[in-house]
Amino acid sequence: GWRVRWVRIERVLGLTCPLCGAPLDRSGICTRCAASLRPQRRHNLVYLGGYREFRKVVRTLKFRGGRALVPPLARALAEGVREAGWDVEAVTAVPTTWWRVWRRGYNPAELLGRAIARELGVPYRRVLGRRYFRSQTRRRADLRASLPAGVFFLQRELPVRRWLLVDDVWTTGATFRAVERALRAGGAEAVWGTVIAARGS
Ligand SMILES: [Zn+2]
Repeated sequence: GWRVRWVRIERVLGLTCPLCGAPLDRSGICTRCAASLRPQRRHNLVYLGGYREFRKVVRTLKFRGGRALVPPLARALAEGVREAGWDVEAVTAVPTTWWRVWRRGYNPAELLGRAIARELGVPYRRVLGRRYFRSQTRRRADLRASLPAGVFFLQRELPVRRWLLVDDVWTTGATFRAVERALRAGGAEAVWGTVIAARGS
């Protein structure tokens, strides 16, 4: 089956778990790390850990076909959202610029968001667009205190009022605030967040 093939490929390539560094006993993250993921909460944010600890997980999800990472991460994050008691009606992800999607083939935040929505039993909705500014990479922008106005915009009317917003990393919160503004301008009553890794935690 595919699982056996994955294990073989990863042994041959010498791939290691992006969390603990041990040789992978399955694709994605190792069995022990998958079982030890614990959601944490800070105000309106559910996350799995600090950026230093999860840096390799985030990178793997972005750049190395990290789809196998998604199910265990999504399960743990959905558990955190349920524990928080948030009355989420739909999930959406922070949009990336089109050329990033094109280069990678997918938006990792959306992949994660769709999996979390499935876990929570609520719909995933792609409602946001993002304008491309030439000199702006995502990280540089997020390290500033705020994003230029109009980076994020609604592509369609919001079908519900209470949203869970998914991204890979929380840095200064500038991205979240900018997206939240766009959602609230469209009538959202609540916007909660979930990320893999939060800086300063
Ligand atoms: Zn591990």
